[in-house]
Amino acid sequence: MLSSQLLIPTLKETPADAETPSHRLMLRAGLIRKVASGLYTWLPLGLMVLRNIETIIREEMEKANAQELLMPVVQPKELWQESGRWEQMGLEMLRMQDRHQRDFCMGPTHEEVITDLFRNEIHSYKQLPCNLYQIQTKFRDEIRPRYGVMRAREFTMKDAYSFDLDQTAFDRTFTGMHAAYTRILERTGVHFRAVEADSGKIGGAKSYEFHVLADSGEDKIAFSDTSDYAANIEKAEAIPPAPSENTNQSITEEKQRVATPNQKSIDSVCKFLKIQKHTALKTLIVESETGLVALVLRGDHELNEIKAQNIAGVSNPLTFADETRINAELGCPVGSLGPVGLEIPIIADHSAAATDNFTCGANENDFHFTGINWNRDVRAFECADLRNVVDGDPSPDGYGRLQLKRGIEVGHIFQLGTLYSAAMKATIQDKEGKALTPIMGCYGMGVTRLVAAVIEQSHDDSGIIWPLSIAPFKVHLLALNYHKSEQVRTAANDIYTACQKAGIKVLLDDRGERPGIKFADADLIGIPLRVTVGDRALADGNIEFQSRREKDKQILPLDSIVTLLKQACSS
Ligand code: ATP
Ligand code: MG
Repeated sequence: MLSSQLLIPTLKETPADAETPSHRLMLRAGLIRKVASGLYTWLPLGLMVLRNIETIIREEMEKANAQELLMPVVQPKELWQESGRWEQMGLEMLRMQDRHQRDFCMGPTHEEVITDLFRNEIHSYKQLPCNLYQIQTKFRDEIRPRYGVMRAREFTMKDAYSFDLDQTAFDRTFTGMHAAYTRILERTGVHFRAVEADSGKIGGAKSYEFHVLADSGEDKIAFSDTSDYAANIEKAEAIPPAPSENTNQSITEEKQRVATPNQKSIDSVCKFLKIQKHTALKTLIVESETGLVALVLRGDHELNEIKAQNIAGVSNPLTFADETRINAELGCPVGSLGPVGLEIPIIADHSAAATDNFTCGANENDFHFTGINWNRDVRAFECADLRNVVDGDPSPDGYGRLQLKRGIEVGHIFQLGTLYSAAMKATIQDKEGKALTPIMGCYGMGVTRLVAAVIEQSHDDSGIIWPLSIAPFKVHLLALNYHKSEQVRTAANDIYTACQKAGIKVLLDDRGERPGIKFADADLIGIPLRVTVGDRALADGNIEFQSRREKDKQILPLDSIVTLLKQACSS
């Protein structure tokens, strides 16, 4: 294609509201434009990359025996009532009514629609295993759309749904899809890890996320430094301290009530009392089915909201009690809460429960207790894993210590069991004619997010560096002085035609721009192989070749370039 005929509206200036490198570069390189919060137009260059990734996905889905179909974006309320999720989904699901006042939603996911299709169309064990996928628009009214297409409201997902007769058959399908995800991500050229994850609203037993490793990732993932263990921090278990680390038996301090005027946060209380944060406990009040519940953690630990809301009875999603309610029911302000004398159920994180002689709020404005011991001073409490793991925690598999890194979740695969097939009464007949409920899996991949994730990992100060496999064009032909120099025009056109004949996707910069602008734009849009045709080198029968990643230039004979490009594109 010719640059002069392609809409690539590059920007020199860095857009003000773009926080991450991929968001900045996608705007600057003319891949996307914002329409409204979380809604984007994909421009020609961006769409080419998206389509290339989709092609890789389709090839790998076919190898994994998944068939492509296409379901509607708009879905009727009735299906979501059957699964029980019409109520459960909350505000992320955009709801609307048609002209007859019938309720619909913009599909945030498609378990209900596919299970409905399955129960209507598939009746015999002979038709299983069955694995169906689509590449389709999803809509989620995200509370905080950000980082461009990384967390958008409208985005493209590849979602697959599998149905199997029994657990053994399902395990085979699941392993196959895990392998397909691995191949897709390898082919897109990203560094990634598959990690254990929480199943969230989709439900089901086990799930794995695929994370592209990047500092700007919204998720934290924990890895063992010696084994293969890897999990999202939402899921990574914090192992309770061994009994020897538990100081519960060593009551050495007297309980004291100390004045802490105007000290409301753990940080300020610790500074004021000149104590370390791990010796002070913080108390958070959340809602549950039966009233308020106190969660107690060490001052240096962070609450893991997913773990907390997964505890039976605790409200899910986790809801912090508001200050008025705390004041009214506990008779104490938020900044001075503590487990001593508290009349509501108390759940202590394992590490908090293993801490004794600790400091905590005295449930009285501007006072704290020091020297508190669980067994001596606290009425009753339960223990649970409530906290995020931290660097250096023991790995839950018993091997090594955990390290934390940031990741971008590009894929999530779930073992659903019979959650949806049972709720929606999807059955099949086995050999004996008996009704069986199929075992389901679902497999999501954020296609638009993956484009941003690739850029997040593959860029430099000047722009994007596309991996060859998904680049919008493989070759960028920069013709300097194209409009004035006959010999440049001829040489550039010849290379252009030869590339096209060889099936190499090539972009010829035929614009009448200055060389500086052509080079800057080429760096910005990141096409992997660059050929520069200019009068000076041509005088000696040469052209300049450069890869976007390595940047060192080679002067090569004009007649060797097409062979070299063919080789580079086939390797
Ligand atoms: P997240 O934790 O990032 O919100 P999720 O757990 O809600 O993701 P899934 O329901 O598992 O996501 O969806 C499958 C995939 O769709 C995700 O792995 C991600 O790549 C992609 N995805 C989810 N939400 C968005 C979004 N708002 N914008 C772009 N891609 C998204
Ligand atoms: Mg989400």
